[in-house]
Amino acid sequence: MTKNYMEILVKNALNEIIDKYDICKCDKCKKDIMAIALNNLPPKYFLSSNDESEKTSFLLDRQIKISVLAKVIEAIEIFTSKKNLAL
Ligand SMILES: [Zn+2]
Repeated sequence: MTKNYMEILVKNALNEIIDKYDICKCDKCKKDIMAIALNNLPPKYFLSSNDESEKTSFLLDRQIKISVLAKVIEAIEIFTSKKNLAL
């Protein structure tokens, strides 16, 4: 199956910052937050002709990491505000 590399970055970013937030950290909530963030980020797929170094440089790109982090923070805010509305 084709892998969306953006998903790896979103997952890493979420795991990095989730402890700073007073929110539920179960798999279901994490997946919801990831889904919100991924909806707001362009997916990244590599072709079979792409080599590992291209994948690695995508995953290590500082600028991409910063924008992913921003979207994950945004997703946490959207997620918590939706939860509060539901209560
Ligand atoms: Zn939860």
